[in-house]
Amino acid sequence: MARSSTLVKPAVQELLHLTVLRTERLSPHWMRITLGGGDIARFRPLGYDQWFRLFLPVGGDEGLERIPAKANSILGYLKYLRIPAGMRPVMRNYTVRAYRAGGPDGGGAEIDVDFVLHGSGDAAGPASRWAEAATPGESVVIIDEGLGFRPERGVERVALVADETGAPAVAGVCASLPATATGFAIIEAPSADDILPFDAPAGVDVQWIVRGAGVKPGSLALAALQERDLPGDPHAFIVGEQALPTAARRYLVGERGLDKGAVSFVGYWRVGAGEVPAAGRQSAERS
Ligand SMILES: Cc1cc2nc3c(=O)[nH]c(=O)nc-3n(C[C@H](O)[C@H](O)[C@H](O)COP(=O)(O)OP(=O)(O)OC[C@H]3O[C@@H](n4cnc5c(N)ncnc54)[C@H](O)[C@@H]3O)c2cc1C
Repeated sequence: MARSSTLVKPAVQELLHLTVLRTERLSPHWMRITLGGGDIARFRPLGYDQWFRLFLPVGGDEGLERIPAKANSILGYLKYLRIPAGMRPVMRNYTVRAYRAGGPDGGGAEIDVDFVLHGSGDAAGPASRWAEAATPGESVVIIDEGLGFRPERGVERVALVADETGAPAVAGVCASLPATATGFAIIEAPSADDILPFDAPAGVDVQWIVRGAGVKPGSLALAALQERDLPGDPHAFIVGEQALPTAARRYLVGERGLDKGAVSFVGYWRVGAGEVPAAGRQSAERS
C-alpha cells in the first residue's frame, strides 16, 4: 500500500473469526459478501471508511487457526509468514461497506464487504478470485484497522475522490457525514453497469465517471478533481490506485493551497504489483 496519512486506530484489535452468510453479484465487477456469525458480537463499528485485514482460507481452514494474534504488526507478520506456504491464508485489506446490528430473521450483526472483481485467471489476484467463487458457510478471519478518514479534520465540507476500490469507503464516509455536509464525491467505475448509487447528504454532489478500457485507473478522477471548485477549505479524502492519492494530494496542496493536514489519503493498490507485505505497510501508514 502507498503512503498514507495517519490512521484512526480502533481501541481493540483482535482476530475475529467470521462466516460468509450470503453472496450477491451486484454488477460485472462487484461482488458483495456478507459476513457474520462467529465473533461478530465483538466487532465495533466505527462508521466512515472503517477497514480491516481480511484473511482468506485459500489453503484450507487449518491455516486460519494458525494466524498469530497480532498478524498486522511487524512481529506478528513474521510469525504469519511461518505458516507453511500451502496453508497460509491470503491477507488483504477491505472496507466495511455496511454494518447492521441485526440481520434478517432476527440474526446477529452483519458486515457487507464489496469486492472489486478484477482481471481473470491468475491475473485476478487471490482475493478477487475468492470473492467471485465464495459460498455461504466459508470461514474468514478479520482484524479491525479503524479509519483512514479522520473526522477531526472536518466533516462539514468534504472533497472525496476514489477509484472503484474506494467506492465502499466513500459510500461509508457519506453515510457517516452530518446531513448538513457539503462538497463532492468523485468516483471512477470500470463500466456504466458498475455504478452503484449510495446515499449522501443533499449538499454533497456525487459524480461517477466511467473509465474506458485501457485508461489508467484514477486518471479520470484526478482530472475531474482538477475541474472542481473546492467547497471552502474542505477535508479531502483520496483513495485508490496509489498514483491517484499521491497526485491528488500533491495537486491539492501545491496548486490549490490546501493544508497538508486537511488531506486524508491511502493508496489501496498498485498497478502490476500484488499485495505489499504488512511490515512495509505498517511503516508507510505512520509516515
Ligand atoms: C484500506 C484499504 C481498503 C480497501 N478496501 C477495498 C474494498 O472495500 N473493496 C475492494 O475491492 N478493494 C479494496 N481495497 C483494495 C484491495 O485490497 C486491493 O485491490 C487488493 O490488492 C486486491 O487483492 P487481490 O488478491 O485481488 O489482488 P493482488 O494479489 O493484490 O494483485 C494481483 C494483481 O491485480 C492487480 N490489482 C489489484 N487490485 C486491483 C483492482 N482493484 N483493479 C485492477 N487490478 C488490481 C495488482 O496490480 C496485481 O497486478 C482496499 C485497500 C486498502 C488498503
